[in-house]
Amino acid sequence: MSAPRAAVLSVGDELVLGATLDTNSRTVSGALRDAGLDVTEHRTVADDRAAIEEALAALAARNSVVVVTGGLGPTDDDLTRDALNAELDGGAAQVEDPQARADLEAWFAGRGRPMASINLRQALRPRSARILRNLEGTAPGLAARVGGARVYCLPGPPREMVPLLERDVLPEVRPEGAPQVVARVVGSFGIGESALAEMLGDRMARGREPAVGTTASGSVVSVRVVARGADAARRADAEAGECARAIAPYAFGRGDATLASSLLDACRAARRTLAVAESCTGGLVGGMLTAVPGSSDAFAGGWITYTNELKSSALGVDRGLIERHGAVSAEVALAMAEGACRASGASLSVAITGIAGPGGAVPGKPVGTVWIAVHDAVRGSGRARRFEFPGARDIVRDRAAKTALQLARWQLAGEDAPIIWERP
Ligand code: ATP
Ligand code: MG
Repeated sequence: MSAPRAAVLSVGDELVLGATLDTNSRTVSGALRDAGLDVTEHRTVADDRAAIEEALAALAARNSVVVVTGGLGPTDDDLTRDALNAELDGGAAQVEDPQARADLEAWFAGRGRPMASINLRQALRPRSARILRNLEGTAPGLAARVGGARVYCLPGPPREMVPLLERDVLPEVRPEGAPQVVARVVGSFGIGESALAEMLGDRMARGREPAVGTTASGSVVSVRVVARGADAARRADAEAGECARAIAPYAFGRGDATLASSLLDACRAARRTLAVAESCTGGLVGGMLTAVPGSSDAFAGGWITYTNELKSSALGVDRGLIERHGAVSAEVALAMAEGACRASGASLSVAITGIAGPGGAVPGKPVGTVWIAVHDAVRGSGRARRFEFPGARDIVRDRAAKTALQLARWQLAGEDAPIIWERP
């Protein structure tokens, strides 16, 4: 039996005009696909009743599930409910839903705010629709049958949309006996996608079960493992583990792990604390580390030492060293890292000094030249490595920051490998 067909309809002027990125379509499609449906199309229409109606009718005619997001608010430009009503009940007067009204009143009462009368519109529903309670906002969702299709209208804000999708939509639309689909992700950094594919070898062959593929974003190459059918979770986990082993040490973590969260985990496991000394990345490494909740137990802090003077005064980098080798050098990177451990008391540090561009190149040091040093105070040793990161300023900085996190992680794990941008 083939999987039921599903479509996603996004409603909003801001989506059509390109002011807001339509992330709901991606979220909804992914969830429907994982639930075992066959997602056939996405449509995006403006806040226009006729356009919403037309799209709704067309999608309902050729799919068994249609998920609509947006346009459920209280203002005149929120027309999804009216469009559904026209389609369902020929535009008959809508009815007030007691549960929706009670939720609305509770929502405003809970915030000590009076309810504007236009908000009462959100307690209305077409006679043939039922509401889906929204506990995160004021716009309830709606569910109805249009012809043979189940139609779900969900609020636009992703924070409100996702709970309704998971609680009300997915359990109803998941086909009975649909093969279970489980996806696992392994993040890797420091190697190109094609080299990674070589390391994964036959695992990536088409038609294999579980299926293994790669995607690259922000210089992180993710390996995605998808298992279907009986025992999918166990097989996906096992395959993800095999993939991680095959691409070690580039693999830094599973699921939502980031380079920063993985490094912090490694620090905790080794009972180490970390400090950073950043020049051309201007705090990006510290930003990535502190973006992880709970980082304070492993991350001591750091310095943005942009000028030579501050490199000396804050981190104790010898002025003569800077004069002899230049600020972008192995010697200065090592001295910065050592100084960061000394001044912070942290047992591990990373330091970054480089030329992010577009200006600043000197002979032998093109734009993108970056030295990254890791100092390990427990072993009493440091190592600096030279990179030439291609790309514009923001990409050079991002890659430098992520490389520093990966090198620090390797230091703790006793691992090592060439990094794609390394130019010793
Ligand atoms: P509200 O009660 O907040 O008005 P609503 O259902 O009417 O809810 P919209 O007015 O369509 O929703 O959108 C509200 C906000 O939700 C938008 O400004 C936008 O930030 C976000 N949003 C809407 N649709 C999408 C989408 N497809 N992808 C991502 N964000 C979206
Ligand atoms: Mg709105």
